[in-house]
Amino acid sequence: MARTAIVTGAARGIGAATARRLAADGHAVAVLDLAEDQAETTAKTIREAGGTALAVGADVADETAVAEAVDRVAAELGAPAILVNNAGILRDNLLFKMTADDWDAVMGVHLRGAFLMSRAVQSHMVAAGWGRIVNLSSTSALGNRGQANYAAAKAGMQGLTKTLAIELGRFGITANAVAPGFIETEMTKATAERIGVPFEDFLAHAAKEAPVGRVGKPEDIAAAVSFFCSEDAGFTSGQVLYVAGGPRA
Ligand code: NAP
Repeated sequence: MARTAIVTGAARGIGAATARRLAADGHAVAVLDLAEDQAETTAKTIREAGGTALAVGADVADETAVAEAVDRVAAELGAPAILVNNAGILRDNLLFKMTADDWDAVMGVHLRGAFLMSRAVQSHMVAAGWGRIVNLSSTSALGNRGQANYAAAKAGMQGLTKTLAIELGRFGITANAVAPGFIETEMTKATAERIGVPFEDFLAHAAKEAPVGRVGKPEDIAAAVSFFCSEDAGFTSGQVLYVAGGPRA
């Protein structure tokens, strides 16, 4: 059945691949990102492929902007039934160099953003008696050097997911998390630049570390998100699926 989906941080990377995949699954997709013109790039690709998409500019950490964005999606595409909390940022640093702003910025986008978006869409899902929420966690939730803020946020996404599953299950709403390993995107490219390693070398090293012998593509994550959003996944809730080319990568 065709539904309305919102994917945050969908101008590029995993979010863009997920938006394209959910559109290919038959859903109308709101492509949400900070800059509407960048979100439009993904939305245009979806429309050119025959799908339905709306570009929406909003900061997921801004309570007013989130409320307005969800209202706009409901008015222009239909009541949102699927939410993918994908928007994310990095502010990596070893603990002794990490600033409070680095901490707050990461918590703001990942956790406050996922909380605000989930709270804003749940009333539509409850009214419909059907909903799917998928949160992007990470293998970094298990701990990662230089990522005290990001690891805490991504572990927090797992706690948020399980609580949403418990609270919202009775309304036909499931909540699950996908925890990617190393995926080739602008985010991992920025990490390579920050530590001064050519991206090709960074990719080769990550591929060697992964049991499947390659790094992930955004489409690998989109496929897992697609399952959690499907009709068939109605009895699957509160789960964390590591998509990392191995048990952890
Ligand atoms: P990406 O290429 O950096 O894309 C993230 C997108 O989120 C960007 O378009 C960015 O917009 C947007 N965004 C940032 N802050 C936002 C905000 N406040 N409101 C709305 N949109 C915002 O990242 P990615 O690699 O695709 O990662 C997507 C998700 O997967 C993130 O949650 C990330 O933590 C998670 N993840 C990634 C990996 C990986 O290896 N790549 C691994 C594990 C988990 P701007 O460009 O305007 O900043």
